[in-house]
Amino acid sequence: MSRISVFSISSEALADEVRALGAPVWRARQIEEALFGKFAASWEDVSLVPRALRDALAAKFHSPGESFSVIEVAGEDASGTRKLLGRLADGQLVECVIIPAPDGRATVCLSCQVGCPCRCAFCASGLTGCVRSLDSGEILAQASCAARILGRRPDNIVFMGSGEPFLNYDAVLSAARRLNAPKPSGFGVGARRITVSTSGVVPGIERFSREGLQLELSVSLHAPDDETRSRLMPVNRRWPLGELIPACRRYTESTGRIVTFEYTLVAGLNDGPEHVRALLRLLRPFPCRVNLIALNPVPEFAGRAPRPAECEAFRAALVRGGVNATMRRSKGRDVSGACGQLRRARILAGADSAAGADAPVQRSAAAPTKASAAFSRTSSAL
Ligand code: SAH
Repeated sequence: MSRISVFSISSEALADEVRALGAPVWRARQIEEALFGKFAASWEDVSLVPRALRDALAAKFHSPGESFSVIEVAGEDASGTRKLLGRLADGQLVECVIIPAPDGRATVCLSCQVGCPCRCAFCASGLTGCVRSLDSGEILAQASCAARILGRRPDNIVFMGSGEPFLNYDAVLSAARRLNAPKPSGFGVGARRITVSTSGVVPGIERFSREGLQLELSVSLHAPDDETRSRLMPVNRRWPLGELIPACRRYTESTGRIVTFEYTLVAGLNDGPEHVRALLRLLRPFPCRVNLIALNPVPEFAGRAPRPAECEAFRAALVRGGVNATMRRSKGRDVSGACGQLRRARILAGADSAAGADAPVQRSAAAPTKASAAFSRTSSAL
C-alpha cells in the first residue's frame, strides 16, 4: 500500500494502528498531541514516542512535513503576507498563504486541489486545469506548516487557495472538521472562523446546508447577470444565477447563516452603476454580505482593477441600496498573492525541480479537461 498522510486517518484509526503495532493506546494520544498541539513536522519531532513505534508508523504514513514541504516562501510584503509554495509527497505543487491582520490575528488560506477545473478568467489556478484533488491530510498538512511558521495555531482558515472545495467535498469537509476539533485530536479553530469558498457548485451548497455545522460559506459571484458571469466563470454555464441564488437563499433559510458573496471588481466589466442596480435586485431580497475586492492582476487576463475611489463608490452605492458591502484589501499582491500565481510562475519558468513534478500540468494545458464535463461528473457524485 502506498503511504498516505498521517493527517488522513481519524483519531480512532490512529489508535487502532498503534494497538495493532503492539503499543499501548495512550501512545496515539501522545502522537496527536505532537501533531496538533506542537505542529510536529517529522516523525523525529514526535519525540516522546519510542523510536520503534515511530519507525513503524513512518513506514505507513507520511509525516506532516512530507505531506506538504515548503520549497519557496514569497514575502513578506508590506502587509506581512507570506505565501508558501509546497510540494506534496508525489511532487505536485500547491500554495498556502499566511495573512496577518493588524490586530495580530492570522488567517491561513488553504488549497484543496492541484490547479482547478473551474477556469475562472482571472484566476491563475485554473489556467492549466486540475491535476488532482488533495486528500484531507494534505489539506491539514498546509495548516500545520502555517502553524509551525506562526508558532501557534491559525486564528482563521479560508478555503480560498487553489481548487474548488465543492468539487472535493469529502476531503474539504473532513479537513474542516479536524481543523475545528478540539485538541488533541484537532487544531481547535472555531467553526465560525473557517470559511469555505465556492465558485457556485450548487449541489455542494445544498449538501453543505444539511451538514449542521457552523462553518462560514462564501460564494464567488463576480457578476450580477448570466452573460457577464459566464464570461468570467464557466461554472455559471452549468449552474446559472437562477439556480445559484435560490440555493444560497435556501442555505440561509435552513441554517440561519448568512452567505458572503465575493465580488472581484474589474474595470469596465462588472463595476458600473448598472451592475450595482442588478446586484441590488439579485441580493436585496435576503440577508447576505458582499465582499468586494479589486482585481489582482494576472498576466493571462487583460482586465485591470478600478481605481480605489471607484471601488469605494461601488461599495457605497451597494450600502445605500441596502446591501451590506465591505471592501477587502488585496493582500499579497507583492508575493504573487492571487490564486495559483506562485505555482504558475514556477511552471512557466520551468524551474528544474518543479518542472518534473508538474509535467502532467503542462500536458493537461495542451489537452484541457472540459470544465463542463468536470462539473457534471463531480456533481453527480455529490
Ligand atoms: N474556487 C473557490 C475558492 C478559490 S478562489 C472559489 O471560486 O470561490 C478564492 C477567491 O479569490 C475567489 O473569489 C476567486 O474568484 C478570487 N480570485 C481569484 N483570482 C483572483 C484575482 N486575480 N483577483 C482577485 N480575486 C481573485
